[in-house]
Amino acid sequence: MAALPIFFSQVVGHEMALRLLRRTIASGEVAHAYLLTGAAGVGKHTVAHAFAAALACLYPSLEGEACGECESCRRLMRGSHPEIHTIAPYSEQTLIWQLWDGHSVPREAKAHQVGVIGRTINFAPQFGRRIVYIFTRAETLTEAAANSLLKTIEEPPPYAVFLLLAPMPEDVIETIRSRCQWVPLYPVQTSVIADWLITQHGVEPSLAQRGALLSQGCPGRAWSFATQPQAMKLWDSLADLAYAVATEPHGTAPALVLAERLRALASIDISLHEKDGGDAEPSSKTKAPSRGALLLAMDALCAWFRDALWMACGGETSGVVYQGDEPRLRRAATAMGVQRLMRTLETILDMRRAVEGNANVQLASEVLMMRLLSP
Ligand SMILES: [Zn+2]
Repeated sequence: MAALPIFFSQVVGHEMALRLLRRTIASGEVAHAYLLTGAAGVGKHTVAHAFAAALACLYPSLEGEACGECESCRRLMRGSHPEIHTIAPYSEQTLIWQLWDGHSVPREAKAHQVGVIGRTINFAPQFGRRIVYIFTRAETLTEAAANSLLKTIEEPPPYAVFLLLAPMPEDVIETIRSRCQWVPLYPVQTSVIADWLITQHGVEPSLAQRGALLSQGCPGRAWSFATQPQAMKLWDSLADLAYAVATEPHGTAPALVLAERLRALASIDISLHEKDGGDAEPSSKTKAPSRGALLLAMDALCAWFRDALWMACGGETSGVVYQGDEPRLRRAATAMGVQRLMRTLETILDMRRAVEGNANVQLASEVLMMRLLSP
């Protein structure tokens, strides 16, 4: 969302986590490694970036904020800090050659992506107080990469700090997890997100409210809804798809057609940040559906069917996420009934776990639709 912040005060929501991290900076009692968990778009990278800024800052304030003026802060504000390293997955995995030299490297890899830890960790920082490594998706660490980190994370040089970001603690292997201090991030209140969109990003109030609702507690998603018209359109198309699931006749043929539609929608790349720092991706313009986009699409389907279930149970229309779609939600509620809606939600959540756990994207979308359209 916009550029990544260097001050905690720029972060929306997450008071508890920020209080903990501020106290960490102010007291100087810094752990070797932190595990920040939460849904995509909830603000893990945002919080980690502000934390990294404060960790590297030469003169942090008594409240634990970066000073904004030292060499380290100024480099970060210019967007290039040689001692804060962001390690994003290459394709879909975070691989051992990204961390250490001496492993075989694909030809397309760029020099700055190779052996990031190996070539930097033994040199004390020149500009800031600490060297920080941010793993934007620690759940994608391969077993070899994760194992290669164990010793380093346990006994790094005193100036090195590791920040690992993942959806849930269980997504990172136990041996790594147990060496990290856990910082859970929870969904941010809708009203807080809407306010932030209006006051910080000048978003028109009704659009801000809709984006905040659809984001389900994730400021990054809300920002993309409110500022990228194609993101809102995508969410509407996913509502159309959900409605089709509710009204199509059962059977394999319609299921495969809907699976194709789902994959097409999961190929649209929606950015959660203006600049994502994820430069390890070999190509940002893939046409194939991506795992992350499919997960977001499944979240949208879930939200729509939860709305329908809410209405099937006699809930007020003010409680639905898909404001404005009440007529179709009501029709789906009547047509499907509580039992089938609950089964539908279970099926989507089930397949979501499979996709998170590396199931084949094409196959998963087909199995999902077949199960949703089986009698
Ligand atoms: Zn500073």
